[in-house]
Amino acid sequence: MTTTPRVGVLALQGDVREHVRVLTDLGAEVTRIRRPEELAAVDGLVLPGGESSVIDKLSRAFGMREPVREAIADGMPVYGTCAGLILLADRITDGIEGQQTFGGLDVTVRRNAFGSQVDSFEVDLDIPALGGSPVHAVFIRAPLVEQSGEGVERLATLDDGRVVAVRQGSLLGTSFHPEVTGEHRFHALFLDMVRERVR
Ligand code: GLN
Repeated sequence: MTTTPRVGVLALQGDVREHVRVLTDLGAEVTRIRRPEELAAVDGLVLPGGESSVIDKLSRAFGMREPVREAIADGMPVYGTCAGLILLADRITDGIEGQQTFGGLDVTVRRNAFGSQVDSFEVDLDIPALGGSPVHAVFIRAPLVEQSGEGVERLATLDDGRVVAVRQGSLLGTSFHPEVTGEHRFHALFLDMVRERVR
């Protein structure tokens, strides 16, 4: 029996609509999440790209910080892109004063790691975990995974070895934005993690 995965996209700020579209295309039932009771009704969560310091502040203002942290601790599958990856990191460098993350991923992530000279760029990445053709990856003021703990799987690196996609247990993070290029394989992997968890 195949069940329709029920997933949410944290909808406080960022490219929520793009994630909703990809997940809907893949057959998921998708809810925009702004309240704890909405989070309680889904089996997986996407943290969108946008501005991590703003999402951090809004999550506290909306009373969502603790519920998201509890969901992560509880093993809920969560996929973060760009700002979402920053929000999943246990440690960040170059955050703004007082910036917090939800945490869960045993990584150190540097915000805006490519500097102000390189605001955005695109590359094709071979990602063995996804198989098939390379992923066309769009980086926009993107973070880098500078350090990762033993339990963290490195899914993708740039040519120079710098890490831009990771997985640890039920958490998945990418420095880039598959949701803006029509790339569906990361979201499909996330939905597999959600189905696995529900079963
Ligand atoms: N630089 C942003 C941040 O710090 C992330 C950019 C993005 O999500 N495209 O949150």
